[in-house]
Amino acid sequence: MRLADAFVVDRDWISDGDFVVTCTCGQEQRLDAMTLDEGSDLTVYDCTRCENSLVGIMTDGAATDLWLSISAMTRSQGSQGHRVNGYLVGSKVDIALQPSGTGLDDAELLLGTPNFFFALRDL
Ligand SMILES: [Zn+2]
Repeated sequence: MRLADAFVVDRDWISDGDFVVTCTCGQEQRLDAMTLDEGSDLTVYDCTRCENSLVGIMTDGAATDLWLSISAMTRSQGSQGHRVNGYLVGSKVDIALQPSGTGLDDAELLLGTPNFFFALRDL
């Protein structure tokens, strides 16, 4: 599973290399360069420099199971991610959708949802 899987329904040209994040450590990177931690229901992208987990994607079904069990324990509030075409996407920082060859001015932003990782921490 890749972040691009959630967006390829609307944009058939897309790949992980079209997403850019800037880590809290200042490292700007495209997703296809990041370190992947892949599970069956969840993929996490780690910063190439500080190994901070920045971006995650999971299936909607797995997310629902997770949030149900988490919210019962913590009653956490706030946005835990973006639901996109059957996936849940979460990120500590904003994700810019910036196809190579275009400028940052043309980028679409997916706002950061840090609560995604607060929940995962309890797994
Ligand atoms: Zn970093």
